Amino acid sequence: MSEKIDHVVIGAGVIGLAIARELALAGREVIVLEAAPIIGSGISSRNSEVIHAGIYYPQNSSKAFHCVRGKQLLYDYCQSNHIEHRRCGKLIVAGNAEQQEMLKQVYQKGLANGVSDLRFLSKTDVMQLEPELEVYSAIMSPSTGIIDSHGLMTQLHADIERLGGMVVCNTPVQSGELEGGEWHLQLNDQEQSRIRCKRVVNATGLSAVSLAKALTTDSNHLPQAAFAKGSYFSLSGKAPFSRLVYPLPEAGGLGVHYTLDLQGRGRFGPDVEWIDNIDYQVDASKVAAFKHRVADYWPGVEARELQPDYAGIRPKLMREGQPAEDFVIQNGASFGRAGLFNLLGIESPGLTSCLSIAQDVAQLVMQPITD
Ligand SMILES: Cc1cc2nc3c(=O)[nH]c(=O)nc-3n(C[C@H](O)[C@H](O)[C@H](O)COP(=O)(O)OP(=O)(O)OC[C@H]3O[C@@H](n4cnc5c(N)ncnc54)[C@H](O)[C@@H]3O)c2cc1C
Repeated sequence: MSEKIDHVVIGAGVIGLAIARELALAGREVIVLEAAPIIGSGISSRNSEVIHAGIYYPQNSSKAFHCVRGKQLLYDYCQSNHIEHRRCGKLIVAGNAEQQEMLKQVYQKGLANGVSDLRFLSKTDVMQLEPELEVYSAIMSPSTGIIDSHGLMTQLHADIERLGGMVVCNTPVQSGELEGGEWHLQLNDQEQSRIRCKRVVNATGLSAVSLAKALTTDSNHLPQAAFAKGSYFSLSGKAPFSRLVYPLPEAGGLGVHYTLDLQGRGRFGPDVEWIDNIDYQVDASKVAAFKHRVADYWPGVEARELQPDYAGIRPKLMREGQPAEDFVIQNGASFGRAGLFNLLGIESPGLTSCLSIAQDVAQLVMQPITD
C-alpha cells in the first residue's frame, strides 16, 4: 500500500482524536493511524476521568492555559453531544495548620490561572458538606467534574467520520522520511506498506518521544522521556463522599485522591511510581500504604474494602526529583522537519485540555510551511 493524504494524525487517544476532529471541522483531509485494535486504549482510558479546574499549574504555563480553556470547551461539548459527565465539585484538603499554608499557595495559583470560583472552607463547613472527612480546612472547587472518557472518544471518532475523516486501527507507524517536502511514513513491518502526506501529527502518548526520534535524523531537540505509573484501588463499600477529595499535591502527581465514577463507585489513586518499562499490573501489597495515605483525610477507611483496580502511566519529560515539565508542542519546521508536529509529555490535565490543545495544534498545522 502507498497512499497519499494531506494530514496524518498518529495515535487515536483523546489528543489525536481531538486534533483530527478539529482538522476535519476546518475541511481538511485527515486520517488517524492507531497501532492498537481499538481507539483510546492508552493513557486516555487509564486515568481519573476528572475534568480539572486548572488550579495547580504554574501561571502562564501551557497546562494552565489549556486546562482552563479546555474545561469550558469540554463541558460545552459534553452538553451538546450528550456525553455523560457531572460537575460534582472537589475539595482539596489540609490536615493541619502547616498544610493550610500550602493550601493557601494552591488557592493563589488557582486565582492566578483564572479559576475564580474557589472558596476556602473551615473544618465546620467541610463537615457539613462531607461528614466523614476529617480535615483542618479545605478549598472547594465547584467547576471540577467527572466525565465518561470513552463516551468522549466515541463522539470525537464519530465527528471525524461524519466530517469525512477516517480512523484506521491496527496500523502502527514505525518511522518516516521527509523527501521533497512530502512525508513517507512506514507502517507495520512491511517495506511496501507506506503512506505519503504533507503534515504529520505525532500524538502517540507514551511512545511520542520514541516515535519523534524515528521521524528525525537529529534527536538533540527532543526531551528525555520517563514513565511514572499511578495505581488505583477501588472501594468496595458505600461511597463515603459525594464530591472528589484531593490531598495536597505531591512530586509527580496530585496525591492519592478520592474520585467517583459516573455510576457512583469510589476509588483512590493514583500514587507515583517511577518505572522503566510499561507494566499495568497493580501491586496488591500496596494496600497498606494506600490505607495509610487515605486515613489522613478519611479515618473510616478499611484496608479490606480496598481492591486493586487499574493503573495508568504518565508520559513524563523529566526524571524523578526534577521539576515538573509543561506540555511540549513541537513544530518540526524549527529543526528541519517541516510538516511534523510532536505532542510530548501530554500528562494530566491532558484529558481536560484535549479540545483546547486541538484548536491550537490545528491552527499550527494549517499554517503554510515556510521552511
Ligand atoms: C494515572 C493518570 C491519571 C490521569 N488523570 C487525568 C484526569 O483526571 N484528568 C485529566 O485531564 N487528565 C488526566 N490524565 C492525563 C490524560 O489521561 C492524558 O493526558 C491523555 O489521556 C493523553 O492522551 P493521548 O491521546 O496523548 O495519549 P493516549 O491515550 O495514550 O493515545 C496515544 C495513542 O497512540 C497510539 N500509538 C502509540 N504508538 C503508536 C504508533 N507508533 N503508531 C500508531 N499509534 C500509536 C497508542 O496505542 C494510543 O492509543 C491522567 C493520566 C494518568 C496517567
